[in-house]
Amino acid sequence: MTAKKMEELVSLCKRRGFIYQTNELYGGMQGVYDYGPLGVELKNNLKQAWWSSMVYERDDIEGLDSSILTHPNVLRYSGHEETFTDPLVDCKDCKSRFRADHIDNNKCPSCGSENLTDPRPFNLMFKTTIGPVDDGSSFAYLRPETAQQIFTNFKNVVDSTSRTLPFGIAQIGKAFRNEITPRNFIFRVREFEQMELEFFVEPGSDEEWHQKWVDERVSWWERQGVDKSKLEIIDVDKEDLSHYSKKTVDIMYEFPHGLEELEGIANRTDFDIGSHTKNQKDFEINADVIKNDDSVTKLAIQDKINNTWTIPYVIEPSAGVDRGFLAVLNEAYKVEKLENGKERTVLSLKSHLSPIKAAVIPLKRNNQDLVNKAVELKKQLQSIGLGRVVLDNAGNIGKSYRRHDEVGTPMCITIDFETLDDNSVTVRDRDSMEQKRIKLDEISNFFVKNL
Ligand code: ATP
Repeated sequence: MTAKKMEELVSLCKRRGFIYQTNELYGGMQGVYDYGPLGVELKNNLKQAWWSSMVYERDDIEGLDSSILTHPNVLRYSGHEETFTDPLVDCKDCKSRFRADHIDNNKCPSCGSENLTDPRPFNLMFKTTIGPVDDGSSFAYLRPETAQQIFTNFKNVVDSTSRTLPFGIAQIGKAFRNEITPRNFIFRVREFEQMELEFFVEPGSDEEWHQKWVDERVSWWERQGVDKSKLEIIDVDKEDLSHYSKKTVDIMYEFPHGLEELEGIANRTDFDIGSHTKNQKDFEINADVIKNDDSVTKLAIQDKINNTWTIPYVIEPSAGVDRGFLAVLNEAYKVEKLENGKERTVLSLKSHLSPIKAAVIPLKRNNQDLVNKAVELKKQLQSIGLGRVVLDNAGNIGKSYRRHDEVGTPMCITIDFETLDDNSVTVRDRDSMEQKRIKLDEISNFFVKNL
């Protein structure tokens, strides 16, 4: 059973230190959240799983970490200045503001009034001033997607790695959108993170690669513990495609508030590289690009055998870290009825995503012999480098188990008085709640094998 209500997840997140409302002490800010001590671990683990599958486990992808501040020309030639807008509707009665496509039956979702303005375009990009004088002449955008900075680094990466087609550039980082109606917890926010791959291919091989990436991305979400039955793969309708896209497939997930986009996989054609290159007329560019007289760099890639230059097509799997976090949390969250009639909340996260990998618990907090052994074991397991191991010295074993079930710790290791005699410990499994005795000199192997 997954979470029935978003409120259950929101409450768990706050209670256990996964996610807090930003600047709550001053009333908070809509659509902005902070990740707490356990949230940052889970989020990093999710990003690491993506990075490993893209950059380490394959041989055709390089990584990048580019700047957030973006030159206005980048977002001009990318088409964002012109088209990155949502039609906006105001309710004249209650003054609420909504995206036109979020309004049903011409009624204000807040007060039900039909006294609405006509939809008007609203640009979603945040601007900020560069330098000491705020006279409007020198500004940058906070990037609305990480992708554009990958395209502008295309030549740098090709030159420094000697890559040939097909190959990709992967990046994880913040993106900012001034969403009109941020809502549904971390699902739609104004500051979020994306995990984006721009995969460059020969024109003509793009459709095949697009399908390969759709399959790979669905399989990756399953490996993160997202049940396939909760995913729906949809072809975005032609009239809803972004200006750069020839075809987009959305991976939709059954979030607590409904079926919505988790990741989009777009065939961006030669639009982006063709938009940012100099001397556009020297190349065969199929996409409808804006004429560019500002770029000083040729962005094509050379086929060294035929000595020809190609503007590659781009396949882009683009996933939201925060939406991914919400999906894996929702999948893992369970309230179980126990044999004794009580209930327990458990996060059955895949262990590679768990914020804490193991808790080492001395049975009595003020027994120095037990505590010393626990400190030693914590250090030993921590040094293996699989993630955070904690020493839980609260002195109440039942409470510790409950807390660690609730935050998804795969194993609790208890040091008790027998340990001092026979050098063995009790290991409790989160999901089955089974306990077994394991010798201390086997515990490192057990830990590695079971994570
Ligand atoms: P939506 O239609 O839901 O606004 P989008 O199609 O505009 O999303 P993309 O531009 O394709 O989104 O961005 C790629 C991914 O980035 C999305 O699949 C989503 O996971 C994430 N994302 C986009 N906007 C937001 C947001 N405001 N808050 C959190 N994640 C977001």
